[in-house]
Amino acid sequence: MNPDALLEKIAAIREAWGDRLLMLGHHYQDSSVVSCCDAVGDSLELSRLAARSNAERIVFCGVRFMAETADILVRDETGRANGRSVWQPAPDAGCPMADMADGKGLEAAWQTLQAALPEVPLTPIVYVNSNAEVKAVCGKHGGSACTSGNGHHVVKHFLDLGHRILFAPDQHLCTNIMRELGYPADAVAVWHRDLPNGGLTDEQMRSARLIAWDGCCPIHASYTTGDVMAARAAHPEAELLIHPEAPSPVAALADQTGSTKNIIDAIHRADLDRAFIVGTEEHLVSRLKQLPGRKIYSLRPIQCVDMGLTTLEQILHVLETWDETCRVTVPDELVLDARACVERMLAL
Ligand code: SF4
Repeated sequence: MNPDALLEKIAAIREAWGDRLLMLGHHYQDSSVVSCCDAVGDSLELSRLAARSNAERIVFCGVRFMAETADILVRDETGRANGRSVWQPAPDAGCPMADMADGKGLEAAWQTLQAALPEVPLTPIVYVNSNAEVKAVCGKHGGSACTSGNGHHVVKHFLDLGHRILFAPDQHLCTNIMRELGYPADAVAVWHRDLPNGGLTDEQMRSARLIAWDGCCPIHASYTTGDVMAARAAHPEAELLIHPEAPSPVAALADQTGSTKNIIDAIHRADLDRAFIVGTEEHLVSRLKQLPGRKIYSLRPIQCVDMGLTTLEQILHVLETWDETCRVTVPDELVLDARACVERMLAL
């Protein structure tokens, strides 16, 4: 079936469902996919929209952890689904970074680090780009989620209380946050998940203000200082905007680091004749390039394979069949702790 015919069929089903159906698309989805969504945004924005809506069925065009977060937030206060459900058209679309951390490993790291310095509270902070079981461990130990947009605020909040932090799964995001908050490099120690005691000495476990899980986003972590030099040389007039999942030596060269939303907002706010080099996922950058008046260049075009898995065919398949293999249900025993982790962030 050609794309126009697929879009027509999807639109007809959406119309028949009316307000009972909400279709959400992440910024990194293909343009054909976002064209049939009710809202486009970052993962947390979309999950909050899902929670605020009264829709019975939410179709989340994104990756697994995003649909899970939506499911956690649409449950009622007791954790029950109450007839609401979340569906992911591409059930195999995961997030390699989220999959670098698991609940059991995070729990073991928290226990080891807390035992090394029991007199100082150790608070877990998990990036929203994490699986539900990781959020549940974080919530159980009084920790909070964070996004790339509010990470500075959440990290600073707990550091100001005198806590140490165990941050998972993105080592680069938290290292960039600590650098931008003015902490020296040795305030961060990296927990290597495959090594005994994370590969840390007792002294490192006790002296670090923040212990960073060794995960990363393979997309943003692939940027190099060489990419920056080449892009700056090619477009000397342009301002460089980079996502904070990039390695710290690269992010430090940017004019601004910012979440997906911050990058979009900065470009929309800028005068029409401004030029930008953008270091984030290419599905989004290619749409930014179509904005009238601005000159937008890719730092280096790179697409997230998982984000590209959702197709119009799969969306139509979900809407026509409500195939249970596309339904995302966080196990009941994880929901309340995972929800506490996300709600603590929203309250900060
Ligand atoms: S862009 Fe990175 S963080 Fe986002 S889904 Fe892909 S791998 Fe995960």
